[in-house]
Amino acid sequence: MSETRATILVVEDEPEIRRFLRSSLAAEGYKVVEAATAGRGAIEAASHKPDLAIVDLGLPDFDGVELIRRIREWSSIPIVVLSARVQERAKIDALDAGADDYVTKPFGVGELLARVRVALRHVARAGSGQGALALGDAAIDLEARRATRGGKPVHLTPIEFRLVACLAKHLGMVVTHRQLLSEVWGPTHIEDTHYLRIYMKQLRDKLEADPVQPRHFITESGVGYRLLADD
Ligand code: CA
Repeated sequence: MSETRATILVVEDEPEIRRFLRSSLAAEGYKVVEAATAGRGAIEAASHKPDLAIVDLGLPDFDGVELIRRIREWSSIPIVVLSARVQERAKIDALDAGADDYVTKPFGVGELLARVRVALRHVARAGSGQGALALGDAAIDLEARRATRGGKPVHLTPIEFRLVACLAKHLGMVVTHRQLLSEVWGPTHIEDTHYLRIYMKQLRDKLEADPVQPRHFITESGVGYRLLADD
């Protein structure tokens, strides 16, 4: 699938935002299918089989989170959520329901297009394995379980490796606290967000050039973390 020929489903009830999304996405070469309600979105998703969906959370008939759950019952296409700042909880619910990323309204078109590109690239890469990560002057080989910084070996603990692997599975996209805790420590630890703060600090200290201003292990405030690697 060529990234720019991809079909994108836009589910958004506000006509101006829909129009803005359509023209911005079309200008990048994407084919756009639109829906103004969640119900219509479910139908268009099934009939057009888009390569990616952009889903607003506040929809007139039923919730965007519910739409994401329904799409996830049969499809693994990337889903990017549009949410207002006041919908913090809904945003997390949407990610835990299977959305891959989000942009917060009001958003810039550059930010949205970047999220779309990352999500489509993620699909294109899936299955090709992402054993090796380049993070500035640090490098991690997840398969060999080796990390280096400036060419010198860095020791990562098994938990740190698992945390990096979990973030790398969603490279460039947000992973919620709940997803990370459940995958790395197990489902009984989904409330233990302090584990994440501790281990993320350790990873930054070991792998970031400036741990206070991380460029790779990014905090998504109140939501989770995102791993950004070099291309
Ligand atoms: Ca709305």
